[in-house]
Amino acid sequence: MEVIRSQYAGACYGVERALSMVKRAARKARRNAASELEGAPSTAPMLAPPTAPAAAPDAAPAAPPTAPAAPATTAPPAAPAPPTAATPPTAPDATALYTLGPLIHNPQVVEELAQRGVQVARSIDEVPAGVVVIRSHGVAPAVIAQARNKGLTVIDATCPHVSKTHKAAQNLREQGYTVVVVGETGHPEVEGILAHAGSDALVVQEPADLPPVLPSRRIGIVVQTTQSQQTLEAITGALRCRGIEPKVMNTICFATKQRQQAAKKLAQKVDVMLVVGGRNSGNTTRLTEICQRVCPKTFHIEKADELDPTWFTSAKKVGITAGASTPENQIITVVEALESLQ
Ligand code: SF4
Repeated sequence: MEVIRSQYAGACYGVERALSMVKRAARKARRNAASELEGAPSTAPMLAPPTAPAAAPDAAPAAPPTAPAAPATTAPPAAPAPPTAATPPTAPDATALYTLGPLIHNPQVVEELAQRGVQVARSIDEVPAGVVVIRSHGVAPAVIAQARNKGLTVIDATCPHVSKTHKAAQNLREQGYTVVVVGETGHPEVEGILAHAGSDALVVQEPADLPPVLPSRRIGIVVQTTQSQQTLEAITGALRCRGIEPKVMNTICFATKQRQQAAKKLAQKVDVMLVVGGRNSGNTTRLTEICQRVCPKTFHIEKADELDPTWFTSAKKVGITAGASTPENQIITVVEALESLQ
């Protein structure tokens, strides 16, 4: 059985860049935490509550509470209440490191980052202090403003291709177009694009999502960077059938186009095709769909231990590709596991 790896399989530029930014930030956070510990005062309480002096055995008994007060000139001042020994409130950790959402759609990588101390917050509200990383999907400008207003340090790992899509949406809006975002409803990247696209923007995943009445006939299109060309063509075609010629800004990123084209070409030549990547990764799922159209025996796996030897019975050629959020070591592990099946 020959194992053939597709060109451009695996982590793209934007994901690699975000990962290296987070790993660098994690190293820095660990150094900062260590130097804070070194410079920290002794763990003994700084202000031990003064203990009352032990009564001498021969001390006079205390006056009963009902005893009349001594003259003011001789009465001792009332003792201040001793400080309580309650645990002081812990200050938020200024060295903590968070990503806003899982850094990439790959559970194994997110787990590895957690072991390096990188926490995942679902929103800025969940970050008490420290550093927050904006992942390659990007966010709405209001989210970055909220983080800065809260005093957080922001590391913006938005992929430059996603930033270009933001700009394209904004330009279309400024030129008076109603913006149609071709992409997955609710996907974080699409949410970020929408924030630049104006209040009448629409998200369309397939032609059936186009409303019967559009807000305007002046339609501008931008595309989630990992969408397929086929989806874009289906939606522009549906608009043309309604007599609307949209202005199309094809923002599918080059890395996605190359990966999809190479995977399709390979899938046409092999008996079995494997697509490696997170099941929660939209671009990996689309890659699987593209391969399945030309190679019915296409399987989407996350890890090598999901391989089923019966898939390869009588297979002479097996192809492998991987989504944009799949790190190299996961692809290598699958190739090695396949080779060991022979
Ligand atoms: S836009 Fe392209 S290069 Fe950037 S993160 Fe997305 S898939 Fe990767």
